[in-house]
Amino acid sequence: MKQILFLIFVLFSVNIISAQELKKLDNVSSDSDYSAKATQAFNLDSLITECLADISADSIEHYMRELEGFGTRFCLAPNHKEVAEYLMEKFVSFGYSDVKLDSFLYVSTYFVADTTWQYNVVATLSGTINSETEYIAGAHYDDHVFGLQINDTTAIVPGADDNASGVSATLEIARIFALNNVQPFATIKFICFAAEEFGLVDDFATTGANHYSTNARNSNDNIGFMISMDMIANNINSDTMVTFHYYDDSYLINLSVSVCDQFTSLTPSSQLMNLNSPGGDSDFFRMNGFDALWVMEYHVSPYYHTVADTVGNYNMQYCSEVAKITGGALLKASFLPRPVQHLDVLTVNNCVDAFVKWNNTKDDSISGYNIRIGTVSGVYDTIVFVADTFYAIDYLVPNIKYYIVVSALNSSGFESCLIEDTIRTSFCGF
Ligand SMILES: [Zn+2]
Repeated sequence: MKQILFLIFVLFSVNIISAQELKKLDNVSSDSDYSAKATQAFNLDSLITECLADISADSIEHYMRELEGFGTRFCLAPNHKEVAEYLMEKFVSFGYSDVKLDSFLYVSTYFVADTTWQYNVVATLSGTINSETEYIAGAHYDDHVFGLQINDTTAIVPGADDNASGVSATLEIARIFALNNVQPFATIKFICFAAEEFGLVDDFATTGANHYSTNARNSNDNIGFMISMDMIANNINSDTMVTFHYYDDSYLINLSVSVCDQFTSLTPSSQLMNLNSPGGDSDFFRMNGFDALWVMEYHVSPYYHTVADTVGNYNMQYCSEVAKITGGALLKASFLPRPVQHLDVLTVNNCVDAFVKWNNTKDDSISGYNIRIGTVSGVYDTIVFVADTFYAIDYLVPNIKYYIVVSALNSSGFESCLIEDTIRTSFCGF
């Protein structure tokens, strides 16, 4: 069974085995001196700690009050483009030069047949090495109140928790990345999505996240993952927990749990929910084939989708901690190489030989791979560096379980998380 290991980010701390101990295929290049040559350009954990310390609860509250101040953010209200332009101006004021309105024609048949232009707001921080890989953080900026009629476009729709909280966290992460002059290896995108609410009730509605992720799939965009923050400021129970809605044992959920533990005061819920809300922003990315996660408050606000969904009911400190999870995950992912995919360990001779192979990831920064081998998970006796995506081992002992781990390295000395697989050699009567 494959596992993603995030506990070990210590570089090159195990012994390099000798050529006599490991025989490699002739066409596998190797460099046992790699450890001596590879040094990290900077300490990534320190960068993350310093950046996240700038996340301000006061800033988040300020954005939330401005968003609530629109009176309504119902997507069919006449002011909906003004809200998008406000968000665009925020990113520009932080120093982002690549900020776009991503417009789409919204058609709903649920309430009435209605057609309007809607606008996602997309701010891009281009990667310096691996720019084609994108990591996305986003939140929907529209809201809806229970019982609101389609023609009632002037009703009060404050939407503080749902979802000025997620939008404000997105803005704040963007602000502190600019403030700290973050120059990520991979590209980071901040997206404020339009017209999410109808996606929950109208299977045919073209929501902002559906529009964006469908286009991304059709364009073969290399989206590493997408994190949606939706309802992240309710903390009337003084929670120290946060809920992750996700699919499968993915890179993203493992990374996010690791960042949450390392860089925030929150604890992932003991009941991590293995789903994304159908029709929610993260679910459209998931349906279009991308790794997606919805981060959410542990106790759901009792006020959401009502006129009492106002800033005074929420906890900005809690919201700040949730923002740190997303900010930290973006930073880790954008500097670390992508982990290898489809690791497979095959026995060639059941007693002593194994053939290890894995898939290359779409990451231009990768310079090679470390292979660790041991008989106890997490304790590896040997490590070898190869440039190719396969490796042969012919010294294994019969009837032993081996743990074989592969990680990717980039030219700046950073190592991806470790992907582990196991194999048991057969007993051959020796
Ligand atoms: Zn929402």
